[in-house]
Amino acid sequence: MNSEICKILKNKNLSDDFYLLKIENNFKEVFLPGNFIHIKIEGVFLRRPFSVAIYTKKFIGIIYKKIGLGTEILSKKRKGESLNILGPCGNSFPIFENKKVALISGGTGIAPLIFLSSELKKRKNKIYFFYGARNKKLIFSEILPSGIDYIFSTDDGSFGQKGNIFDIFKTYKDDYEIIYAAGPEQLLKKVSLYSSKKPVYISLENYMACGMGLCYGCVVKIKEEGDGKYKRVCKDGPIFEGEKIIWE
Ligand SMILES: Cc1cc2nc3c(=O)[nH]c(=O)nc-3n(C[C@H](O)[C@H](O)[C@H](O)COP(=O)(O)OP(=O)(O)OC[C@H]3O[C@@H](n4cnc5c(N)ncnc54)[C@H](O)[C@@H]3O)c2cc1C
Repeated sequence: MNSEICKILKNKNLSDDFYLLKIENNFKEVFLPGNFIHIKIEGVFLRRPFSVAIYTKKFIGIIYKKIGLGTEILSKKRKGESLNILGPCGNSFPIFENKKVALISGGTGIAPLIFLSSELKKRKNKIYFFYGARNKKLIFSEILPSGIDYIFSTDDGSFGQKGNIFDIFKTYKDDYEIIYAAGPEQLLKKVSLYSSKKPVYISLENYMACGMGLCYGCVVKIKEEGDGKYKRVCKDGPIFEGEKIIWE
């Protein structure tokens, strides 16, 4: 993990409060799906973590939602300005070959699953990508990799099937060998508790401070012998086996 100064190549509003930020990739390290970057934003104290959505040798892309002061300031940054970026942070999704896999995403969970889906595609997996959002405007079709079967749902029925993406997922024949999920905690909890017969990998978000595993500010409780054990989302995660999480 290193910190690099990276120029902004694009910071585009996708719709409503969602943005696509592309920065130069000045990192020597290779990023893997599930990794996040920790961005220093002048004006707020702590760095802010964001999953890598698009990764090439030349640039790194994130999709972020403007929710508070940090992301508000970030949304005003323009092409040509620079950001101090720490990365690659965290662990990554395990990648298999020639499997039938389901990806389930809600809200900003789409970000890590875009990167994951392009890597799974290279390894000849058959991918079913369940992508849920509140409405049509929040389905970002233009940045989705091609050659993948997408199943869309929106809460208001304005695009794809109407309803919650997890309920839609459950109506499909469940012969996936691996399930990956990212998005709101309630979705991750449901997916994790859904099946104990196959591996489920989730990308967890938690409030974090250092982002390097030093401060233990972002721990989650994991099932282990005895009373369980705390793991750091920033260093041991953000990718965890769903069945191991002790949900509060
Ligand atoms: C591993 C990881 C990956 C993430 N990936 C994405 C992504 O791809 N796209 C995206 O839009 N958001 C993502 N988030 C959430 C994102 O980091 C927060 O939305 C962002 O930090 C909010 O900053 P703020 O100053 O605008 O909000 P504020 O609410 O003002 O932030 C105050 C504090 O809370 C923290 N915080 C607020 N919301 C969250 C949250 N949901 N998770 C963790 N910390 C939070 C902030 O980092 C900050 O320290 C991710 C979080 C984690 C931990």
